[in-house]
Parts: sequence; C-alpha cells; structure tokens
Amino acid sequence: MSRLHPLYAAMEPTIFEHMSGLATAHGAINLGQGFPDEPPSPDMIEAAGRALREKSHQYPPSFGLPELRDAICGFYARRQGLMLAREQVVVTSGATEALAATILALVRPGDEAILFQPAYDSYAPMVRRAGGTPVSVRLDPPAWRYDVEALARAITPRTRVLILNDPLNPAGKVASEAELAMLADVCRRHDLIAICDDVWEDVRFDAVPHRSLLAMPGMAERAVKIGSAGKIFGLTGWKVGWFCAAPDLAQAIGRAHQFLTFTTPPALQWATAEGLARPDSWFAPQRATWATARDRLAQNLERAGFVVLPSAATWFLGIDLAASGIAIDDRDFSERAVREAGVASIPVSALFEGDGPRHILRLCFAKDAATLDEAVARLARFRDTLGTERRA
Ligand code: PMP
Ligand code: GLN
Repeated sequence: MSRLHPLYAAMEPTIFEHMSGLATAHGAINLGQGFPDEPPSPDMIEAAGRALREKSHQYPPSFGLPELRDAICGFYARRQGLMLAREQVVVTSGATEALAATILALVRPGDEAILFQPAYDSYAPMVRRAGGTPVSVRLDPPAWRYDVEALARAITPRTRVLILNDPLNPAGKVASEAELAMLADVCRRHDLIAICDDVWEDVRFDAVPHRSLLAMPGMAERAVKIGSAGKIFGLTGWKVGWFCAAPDLAQAIGRAHQFLTFTTPPALQWATAEGLARPDSWFAPQRATWATARDRLAQNLERAGFVVLPSAATWFLGIDLAASGIAIDDRDFSERAVREAGVASIPVSALFEGDGPRHILRLCFAKDAATLDEAVARLARFRDTLGTERRA
C-alpha cells in the first residue's frame, strides 16, 4: 500500500511540465507552457543585479519587503484605480503559492469551492488537499460566458469560495462588466469569498484598465486578489507573486503563507518593487510586442486554414481543431504534433476535469516572428498529413 497521501499517489506531472519535457526531448518549438522567449528587460536585470550586489541576502520579512508591498499598492492605484494599503498585501513565491496559501487558509474540510473550467491546474488539487470539494462550472468556447443559471445550480449551503481567473487562461477572455457584476452579486447573496486569480490583469490588449472582482461593490471584504510579477514583466521564472485582501483576511492567509515558503528571495523583491514603480510608458512597448505577436500568429494560422478563437489577453490563443478540419481530439493532436511536427501546444481539455470540449488547442504567441512563422508552417504540414492519413 502506498504511504503517500492518496491525492499524490497517482498524480501525473502537470500538462505544462509534460509538454515542455516533450518539447525538449524532441527539439520542438515550444508554444505549450506559457513563457515569452524575448530577452529580459535590461532594466529589470540591472535592478536585480544591483540588489544582489548591494542589498541583504538574509531573510526578508515573511509578508514581503515593505518597499515591495508599497510598490504593489502604487501599481494598482495607478493602473487600476484600486486603493490598497500595505497591510493588505503579502508577497509570495509566485501566484501559485498565493493560491495555495489562500485555499489552505479559507477552505475547511467539507467546504465546496466553485471553480470555472477550463481552470488553472493547481486549483482543484489544492482545494482537495485542504479537505474541500471542487465544484466545476463549465465555460464553453468561443464566448466562454459566465452563466448565472449554471452557477446557481452549482451553489449549495456548503459552498464557501468561488475561484475566478480573469482574464482567463487558456481562453484569453476578459469578463465583461455585467459578468463581474453578476459574480459579485452571487458572492454577496451566498456569503462567498472570491479568490480572484488576476495574474493576467496586466497582459491585456484591449486598452481597458483591469477591473478586479475585488473592486466590485461590496467585494473588498470578501475577496482575495492574486497577482504575479512573472506575467507583468514576462519573467515567469522569478516566481514573485502576491495576494491582497482586507487586513484581517490578509493576516490570516499570511499565516498559511508563513509555513509554505515563509518568504521570497530579496533581490527579486527589490527588482520587482523598482519595476512596478515604472511609468505606464515603460510597460507599453512590451504589451505592443505581445499584441503584434498575437496578430501575426492568428493571421498566419488563418491564412493556413486554421480557425482561430479571439484572444483579448494573456499570451495564448486557441485553435478550433474541429472547425479547422482536424478529426482527432486536442490531446491526440498535441501529443502527436510535438513528436511528428516539432510543435508543442497545450490541449485545453487538460484544464477540464470530466466533461469539456476536446477540440481546442492552446498556443503561446509570446515568441519572435520567425519562431511563430515556422510553427505555423509545421502545423499546416502536419494537418495535411492527418488529412492524408484519413483518406488512406
Ligand atoms: N494562475 C494562472 C491562471 C496562471 O496562468 C499562472 C501561470 N501561468 C499562475 C496562476 C501561476 O503564476 P506564478 O508563475 O506566478 O506562480
Ligand atoms: N500557467 C502557465 C501556463 O499556462 C504554466 C505554469 C506552470 O507551468 N506551472 O502555461
């Protein structure tokens, strides 16, 4: 009998790790796991280098450097008109740790947690590890609409939290004002706490400032907002994240955080603080580069006969395989394309438990033009091979 906790006894590596491993093994272009391949910003590297040379290498405070906590408040005030105080912000080792601390602190044994599928892969396992039950509400392409009736059906007297990822990875969808109002209304009426996974808040291409569910009327006291420097600066390996909540809630979740990682490397905290204080004009060119890459990939795919879903945010866009004349499902396509075509992708069905669409493929577009062009050429050739197979 396994001595492991049953949750981990048969657990597979994440789809992101799996596909990146295959990409390396097969020398494939990696449009799977989300990370940009552009050189890092020299300003950020210089700031981190300076911090390594000049600042302390010993434990920072568990809740984060005060300077970074203040910089996070300043960033949200400037870019989202959201007023937070230092005691509402706790720095974590990536958003993944912020999610873990929040779920461990809020979900009690027997509680139910609503999550929308497709869902970031850590939500459900963390809810289960906390003794809770994830209850899924399915979103469907191409609109990925939040449906008030489906949500109402999922809520029971045991429902305690609702996890919202907006903008939504893998769909690139941004919740409308009406959807946010509906979700806030549901949280207030059923006394739910919203865990707002806002990591993609600053990777938006619609020129609209992000509005968090936490910023909706009556939500400040019942929401936890999670952010990530990895996405804001395109530096996913830094793993500097944070959560923000009302002071008492932030304190309580901070107690869970103190026994997960306790704290986060100080040099990266200093550099993130410096980065967050930069003016909007400093952030704009990187967003423009990502938007251009998105358009290039979408147009090339369409020219090659693929049906592409719209993407207003994140580094991802979706291909509708079925509508593109591909008869195999997303998992098969992904597993074969990385080996046979040399392109890694993410099958969106991997972000569903149980029932979900099996015909959407996620591609990361935060790559240089030559890489994107080559990937499309390879995918188009691969699709033609599949067509020939079917006729044979
Ligand atoms: N939530 C979502 C929706 C994400 O897409 C990601 C990373 N891709 C994370 C959380 C984790 O962020 P971090 O790398 O800062 O842990
Ligand atoms: N969430 C990232 C993505 O969507 C991957 C994060 C990870 O690998 N843990 O690609």
